[in-house]
Amino acid sequence: RLVSGESFGENEDQTELSLRPTTLSQYIGQDKIKQEVSVYIQAAKDRQEPLDHVLLYGPPGLGKTTLAGVIANEMGVTFKTTSGPAIEKPGDLVALLNELQPGAILFIDEIHRLPKNVEEILYSAMEDFYIDIIVGQDATAHPVHFPLPPFTLVGATTRAGLLSSPLRARFGIVEHMKYYTDSELAQVVLRSAEVFDSQIDPLGAAEIARRSRGTPRVANRLLKRVRDFAQVAQKKSIDEEIVQYALKLLQVDQQGLDETDRKLLRTMIELYGGGPVGLSTIAANIGEETDTVADMIEPYLMQSGFIKRTARGRMVTPAGYEHLGLRPNEKKN
Ligand code: ATP
Repeated sequence: RLVSGESFGENEDQTELSLRPTTLSQYIGQDKIKQEVSVYIQAAKDRQEPLDHVLLYGPPGLGKTTLAGVIANEMGVTFKTTSGPAIEKPGDLVALLNELQPGAILFIDEIHRLPKNVEEILYSAMEDFYIDIIVGQDATAHPVHFPLPPFTLVGATTRAGLLSSPLRARFGIVEHMKYYTDSELAQVVLRSAEVFDSQIDPLGAAEIARRSRGTPRVANRLLKRVRDFAQVAQKKSIDEEIVQYALKLLQVDQQGLDETDRKLLRTMIELYGGGPVGLSTIAANIGEETDTVADMIEPYLMQSGFIKRTARGRMVTPAGYEHLGLRPNEKKN
């Protein structure tokens, strides 16, 4: 999905690298987090201590990895990234931690997906910088105590509630990443266009921003596609008209909704009278995983006010009906 905040993998990661801001002043938006984090960084540097562990949570593509890299850069320490599912066994974690330079930042994406036995040894590593593991089997099994260099763990997850409470409790700094405003996203687009050496009108940037679901990754992705259309149409500059033309062809509507979002709304309305209906039922009907609906589709529909959560399930709001050009069913007396 063009408008999903999820990464498309390595190819995209390469272009993204060139787009990533490296300092807090280049990092657009998330002002409250930036303000707080800059104080914590300054204080840690003054005390010559590693920064406290940081948990970043929020929908994909909002810049968690980027922010972790910015923090490492501002602290002047090395930056290592990995993800929860990539650390399969305790030995993998021990090897990773052992290789860290003192004070380094270890970024673990999707930290809620760490295997339980790995998570358990992370507790002492985070708290007191050591790990005790059992080496050998049966009669030869014996505990080994590994002291570790001090480090900062930056964990990222889509939902803080997915983390076990002992793990969550070990993060001194917990930050909620919010969707970006249209004007912040327009700044992201203008900055990225500059990196790409593409001309763009402010109105063109604003139009891309409006349709990017509050998500910088989506904004950058739409910019790349629109840039292709502008080039083929021999436009000197990416203007509002070419953005509208390209996004119409790409089926990204005025609010940044794509076919999958509209299908979800239509299914809820046509099969369930607009709800309330459970998340897993919706997911099964549109052929998506429940987690995908929960993490990638639903949050933006809720943020836009097209669906709402109730005690009995999700409901389409009047604005959701209106977006599809429908009227909410009148209630029978
Ligand atoms: P995921 O959790 O899916 O990996 P993420 O939240 O870590 O996503 P990033 O990979 O950090 O997101 O960011 C996605 C893209 O958006 C990057 O190309 C990055 O350059 C851009 N970006 C993110 N945040 C900002 C920002 N505040 N200012 C400018 N560009 C940003």
